Amino acid sequence: MAIQRTFSILKPDATERNITGAINALIEKAGLRIVAQKRIHMTRGQAETFYAVHKERPFFGELVDFMISGPVVVQVLEGENAIAKYRDVMGATDPSKAADGTIRKAHAKSIGENSVHGSDAPETAAIEIAQFFAGNEIVG
Ligand code: ADP
Ligand code: MG
Repeated sequence: MAIQRTFSILKPDATERNITGAINALIEKAGLRIVAQKRIHMTRGQAETFYAVHKERPFFGELVDFMISGPVVVQVLEGENAIAKYRDVMGATDPSKAADGTIRKAHAKSIGENSVHGSDAPETAAIEIAQFFAGNEIVG
């Protein structure tokens, strides 16, 4: 399996509770390397662009409001099969359905405030990384 990169966000519920280090520990324990990372406060425009795929969903407004409610940590993760591996480490979107040992099982507050984002495919990973990082900010 090839080395891949995926895009990750530690969401406002994680920065608010000061658990970004605890989440990073789970990421690293899974064998993923944090090859880029910065703390930002997303603008409404950035959040709307990022989640444009969900703009017709009933929770879109709530999701954008949440993502701009506080700072986030955006990251690029690198490793073998990184996209699927990180989805496994994150756990199910709804923390009540997330498996033991996953980030969302351990830390998520609700289906909306669920601590982390991870890309779902190589195409979306490339688009999401490029939205937030220049090439020279990623150091593998
Ligand atoms: P995932 O983040 O697991 O890929 P989705 O892409 O389906 O999940 O949804 C994007 C984000 O929208 C979720 O992580 C969550 O923050 C939010 N969300 C999804 N479903 C709901 C819902 N039913 N109610 C509120 N927020 C939701
Ligand atoms: Mg998704």
